[in-house]
Amino acid sequence: MNELFKKNIVGLHKMLVEKEISAIELAGAFLNRIADKDKSVRAFVSVTEEEAKKSALAVDQKIAKGQFIGLLEGIPASVKDVLATAGTKTTASSNMLANYVPPYDATSVEKLGREGLVMLGKTNCDAFAHGASTENSDFFQTHNPWDLDRIPGGSSGGAAASVAGSMSVYALGTDTGGSIRSPANYCGIVGIKPSYGRVSRHGLFAMTSSNDTVGVMAKNVEDCALVLGAMAGEDAKDATTRRTKVPNYHEEIKKFNFKDKKIGIPKEYFGEGMHGGVRSAVEGAIAKMESLGAKIVPISLPHTQYAVAIYYIVTPSEVSSNLARYDGIKYGYSVMSDLSRKDQIKDLLDVYTQSRKYGFGAEAKRRIMIGTYALSSGYHDAYYKKATAARHLLADDFKTAFKSVDFIATPVAPTLPCRLGEKVSDPLALYLEDIYLAAVSLSGLPALSVPCGFARDGQGDTIDLPVGLQLIGNYFDESTILGAAYHYEQSEEWRLRYPNI
Ligand code: GLN
Repeated sequence: MNELFKKNIVGLHKMLVEKEISAIELAGAFLNRIADKDKSVRAFVSVTEEEAKKSALAVDQKIAKGQFIGLLEGIPASVKDVLATAGTKTTASSNMLANYVPPYDATSVEKLGREGLVMLGKTNCDAFAHGASTENSDFFQTHNPWDLDRIPGGSSGGAAASVAGSMSVYALGTDTGGSIRSPANYCGIVGIKPSYGRVSRHGLFAMTSSNDTVGVMAKNVEDCALVLGAMAGEDAKDATTRRTKVPNYHEEIKKFNFKDKKIGIPKEYFGEGMHGGVRSAVEGAIAKMESLGAKIVPISLPHTQYAVAIYYIVTPSEVSSNLARYDGIKYGYSVMSDLSRKDQIKDLLDVYTQSRKYGFGAEAKRRIMIGTYALSSGYHDAYYKKATAARHLLADDFKTAFKSVDFIATPVAPTLPCRLGEKVSDPLALYLEDIYLAAVSLSGLPALSVPCGFARDGQGDTIDLPVGLQLIGNYFDESTILGAAYHYEQSEEWRLRYPNI
């Protein structure tokens, strides 16, 4: 593979400043790569060639004038299609929003825009971010660059595949119950979900408002630290963002030292059903961190077994409420403006029901039904109220753990990425993909996935598939997990392997 695609942000910045390459040439190289490779990977819902070239040109003009350019200026990246981009179609990979062009940017996108983002395009995901494989996209499937027959994980599968396939330097993703960590894990890249409230949700199409976070994926920890720092911070447009000062993650990661750190290993995350290759990669990473000076502390997160059940009551409940706005009148696809179906409407109720029938895919409908049931009078107390009370038990488990450890290390998923279609007809099997991810989201904590090895799925399989390590941090302490991931990453050579596409 071309050496250009192996460079990190600092390396590319140096090339731009030293005029080894222009921003236009850099964008062009990535756009060509997309034209070549995305035919088979299918990471992008739309490629925004013109916008990319326009932004790149602006950076080149600054360089030509001898002006200062920031580290992120001119760096090509992709944006998950659930984040609003002004003037660029934003679909949530759903038929409901297939033609929606937002008049505004999400705050995260706007902030990066100010830093000189060159947006290459919008990436595919499970529709409305509901899923763990990207197979719930209403449009098409995204393939895992390491093995095109396998899922890339989800819901930010296109984002992860765009990075793993070297079709963007970094990608903006979102994580509500694992949607950054799962695809980062399966695609062999780094992905961080910040604490709830660290990055503004303004302009992110709401899924589970009490969990939704915007984060970043890249080939290495340093790039993630840089981009997260640029996106984070208080925003008047999202009341759940915190006023707390944003640390300089880029500097902090270098200062981290394993020598004075205690790492919690929760026994509940190493139970039965884990693939042997995943187990040995994760255990190997823990041993490595110990050899670098960390102290390993066995801990217990006793309510872990309830996390998926709690998540799949809280999430559909909020989804059913958040998706109510797509009614064929106020927002989204409308059967009234669909010439082929217009004749089917007799009254207002038909407008609502038919628009939602054709606009939503099967998974969105499933969640709307479960959520409406869980919120309905007579069941509300037994389901929604109980689940929202029980989520505090999960958060308390972590609170107790963080009294004696600095961060927690676990697997990201118990298995390797499955083959496309293998689990798609079994929603429960895919919900169980979230087993190590959901409790973290329900507790609002920061967590990341960093590559920690490779394994083969079954006997006779010849393709090495990546395995990730999850590091979970205390509330608003992204610095520690980024620092640990950075020093672990530098002690190994996993990052030097690339998929063969
Ligand atoms: N797999 C989870 C779900 O289907 C996570 C989704 C997400 O984080 N957006 O809900």
